[in-house]
Amino acid sequence: MERKIELHESHPRYLSLLAREKLVTGFKRGIVASEGLIAHGRGECFDYLLGERTIQSSRDAINVASAALLLANYPIISINGNVTALCVDQICRLNRSLENSAVEINLFYYTKEREKLISEEFKKYGLTRLFGIDPNNLESIPELESNRRLVDRDGISKADVVFVPLEDGDRTIALKRLNKKVITVDLNPLSRTALTSDITIVDNIVRVIPQLIERVEFHRKHSSEADLNDLLESFDNLDGLKKALEVMKSKQVPLQ
Ligand code: ATP
Repeated sequence: MERKIELHESHPRYLSLLAREKLVTGFKRGIVASEGLIAHGRGECFDYLLGERTIQSSRDAINVASAALLLANYPIISINGNVTALCVDQICRLNRSLENSAVEINLFYYTKEREKLISEEFKKYGLTRLFGIDPNNLESIPELESNRRLVDRDGISKADVVFVPLEDGDRTIALKRLNKKVITVDLNPLSRTALTSDITIVDNIVRVIPQLIERVEFHRKHSSEADLNDLLESFDNLDGLKKALEVMKSKQVPLQ
């Protein structure tokens, strides 16, 4: 029998439970891999320590990420099953607001069926072209194993900036070797992805994307190219990771 859970906004874990529900639904529909559920659990643990909110250093990273995306000649947003289940609508909005970007799929646990389901999901939200699905258009990143090494000739291959939320370390390192500027969202400030990327946003993707869209729209209206370059130049990624870790370490057991 189909399980039916009622979520109430008054529940202290409401947003966290909502995200779980989206992932479980995505899993049942074949969009999320079983390993994706475990990866989400790892993220939740760090989110708990952050207080399930966007901390100042992550707000700064979001601001800088919006500058990097606006300055890019050809930014690509790389997506997977978890990203689709959690925020397909917001990713499509971000892509529209960037104007010169495109979306590319890359699955750690690849199946043709999952790729098709994700592609259909993006179509529902108005995306007309998803890169990474035409086998004739894929080429290999050297030194990376299996299907993870594939990138689209007209997508990531040509991109100067790649936004890879919820990515694994090997692929992030490989993208850096290709000289891409890499922006990521990762709740774990100690992951290889967090440490290797140029701009790491230590926050939950469901909170990040709406703020990123807001910043892109703000800077498009109010900032010059020089302002955006200044933002990028003054950014220190490792400092942001240290600040996120400090917030996590400062959690105390509440005293009676
Ligand atoms: P790495 O290979 O980079 O060292 P990893 O082995 O933890 O790290 P994965 O398991 O492939 O990498 O990636 C999952 C990462 O995504 C985890 O670091 C987890 O903290 C993060 N994550 C999971 N769910 C979310 C979410 N909703 N928002 C932001 N980050 C998330």
